[in-house]
Amino acid sequence: MFTIPSPLIKLNDLLFDEAGIELFIKRDDLIHPQISGNKWRKLKFNFLEAEKLNKRTIVTFGGAYSNHIYATAAAGKLFGYKTIGIIRGEEQIILNPTLNFATECGMELIYLSREEYKNKEINIDKTILKYSLNDFYIISEGGSNALGVKGCAEIVNEIDIPFNYICCPCGTGTTLAGLVSDLNNSQTAIGFSALKGGDFLVDDVKTLLSDYYKHERKESSRNSNFNLQTDYHFGGYAKSNEVLFDFIRTFEKRHSILIEQVYTAKMFFGIYELIKIGYFKKGETIIALHTGGVQGRDGKI
Ligand SMILES: *Cc1c(COP(=O)(O)O)cnc(C)c1O
Repeated sequence: MFTIPSPLIKLNDLLFDEAGIELFIKRDDLIHPQISGNKWRKLKFNFLEAEKLNKRTIVTFGGAYSNHIYATAAAGKLFGYKTIGIIRGEEQIILNPTLNFATECGMELIYLSREEYKNKEINIDKTILKYSLNDFYIISEGGSNALGVKGCAEIVNEIDIPFNYICCPCGTGTTLAGLVSDLNNSQTAIGFSALKGGDFLVDDVKTLLSDYYKHERKESSRNSNFNLQTDYHFGGYAKSNEVLFDFIRTFEKRHSILIEQVYTAKMFFGIYELIKIGYFKKGETIIALHTGGVQGRDGKI
């Protein structure tokens, strides 16, 4: 496995000075060009577990534009595993860039109808048997399991300055759960839902945390020092508009850091809004986790 460069960088903006806060960005997007950000964090212990169990095939799930499928394919190639991606929806004759990349990494794609996909975890044996596979290690959709949480828990420990808040975008809530598990009493995590109606994520995060504590046989039960912001989804998962694109252009020009429209831009937009409404107190330090995904940046930006 490789060692990861994920520096902590201070962002400068008049808005932060006026609010009397400091904002740092944790650059997980720099971890690896293809296995970027939180995807690497969530895959790390899953790949190590597959190795321990002597499984040479990794099976996982995702939509046709999934960063998780993309990263799993790249990691499989890098570490010498066969990978199988179970993809939601009709077979694509002309592959989109995500699935094309996955295939080029050697990932085998199996398509399930939206109906079949709903029970994908239950039907896994049937699906796999149909393709006469064996000796496989299954990673849940989005890397959302106890070992995924464990990988994300390592992020907090790498931050060597005192801080009050740590922010991340949320899809499954696995990254948020990892952050929450390693905070101290005076620190709070804030998740920004990339999906519409993301309130269900609160329960998902708690379930992921209890799975993780159980798995690690940890006494700790820290599971409420976080909150979820659900107003910055821009219409729903993978939805965006010109307001968001404008925000991205301004942000990138000012800070020379690329962000993308599905996750990271929605978080930064939300952070800026919270700063504007005085959510953070003078003297507070906020960390924003750049979860990567920049390969999926919309060409129209
Ligand atoms: C997958 C992804 C997320 C969502 O992470 P969860 O752990 O599923 O909440 C956030 N940001 C980026 C860039 C991603 O690719």
